Amino acid sequence: MSGGAPAQEPAEQRAAREAEEERGNLARAADAGIHRLAVPTPFMVGRVNAYLIEDSPLTLIDSGPNSAKALDELEQALAARGHRVEDIELLVISHQHMDHFGLASILARRSGAEVAAIGPLAPYLASYGHETDLDDAFAENIMLRHGIPPEVVTALRAVSAGFRAWGSAVEVTRPLGDGEELALRDRTLRVLQRPGHSPSDTVFLDEQRRMMLAADHLIAHISSNPLLARPLGAEPDPTGPRPQALITYMRSLESTRELDLDLVLPGHGKPITDHVALIDERFRMHRRRAEKILRLISEQPRSAHEIAQELWGNVAVTQAYLTLSEVLGHVDLLLEDGRVLEEETDGVVRFAAVATPDS
Ligand SMILES: [Zn+2]
Repeated sequence: MSGGAPAQEPAEQRAAREAEEERGNLARAADAGIHRLAVPTPFMVGRVNAYLIEDSPLTLIDSGPNSAKALDELEQALAARGHRVEDIELLVISHQHMDHFGLASILARRSGAEVAAIGPLAPYLASYGHETDLDDAFAENIMLRHGIPPEVVTALRAVSAGFRAWGSAVEVTRPLGDGEELALRDRTLRVLQRPGHSPSDTVFLDEQRRMMLAADHLIAHISSNPLLARPLGAEPDPTGPRPQALITYMRSLESTRELDLDLVLPGHGKPITDHVALIDERFRMHRRRAEKILRLISEQPRSAHEIAQELWGNVAVTQAYLTLSEVLGHVDLLLEDGRVLEEETDGVVRFAAVATPDS
């Protein structure tokens, strides 16, 4: 993402240059008192970035998942900077995914830290077990409606139950509002809601330093999956409208694109120095995928699961919910443009192309 990269740069050279850039950008964050602590997770995404802000209060943004290994590595990373878990004074949670908040209850109990998160996320985190039951019920309904076979849905329920313990209920003692300023001694972080990847996505903007802690709102090496999620605080409603996660996400990206930023510190992977170029790339990618899906729908009406199988084969079964979210997100773009329509037979939704005069 630096302008001076030669067009035909060998892979090895490129990797070395990118590693060098990453070190430089992390050093810039460190100069501002922000230290990346990469904590292991059991998930495909790999490590999750917690950020230690050496300020008053001593602040940790996200915790990593609820595991002994994550806690052990987090403690080592804190120790390398001369801190203990007990020293943490403020713990900030970026969103509702367990790789980001799972350890929060242990850290809060050991340190007595305040726990901050956007207000609507507080009841979710307080009743984490019950809320994930509701999430699962919501997901099952969506999967069945969009053509995933019942036996796959049952198998996925077991997978979801197996993952549950990587999260843990935690009490939010400091609910935050959208646009609110979170003032530390040496900096002010503006709290901005950026839903899409999840309903509770929150970013923290240091306007003075033009730095932003973005969690999973924007990630350099992967596009943040706008997972179809139950709206915060809502009961699953089989007859209600489907949340449009990708459309919501793209609106959030548009807001972030307007910000004046030098450095974005994401929840996974390396810092981002050109958020506008990255966001534009994401917009192009989502439009391309929507066109590809439209071609499949134009051949014949298909359910979202059938589309996913066409695109990803067996992955559409093992990662059924992820790929379903991906397809439905892009179908939503086509629905919004009036290029496809939704028809339902026997409880399963199929998408059909809208005939255009020249087709
Ligand atoms: Zn996430």
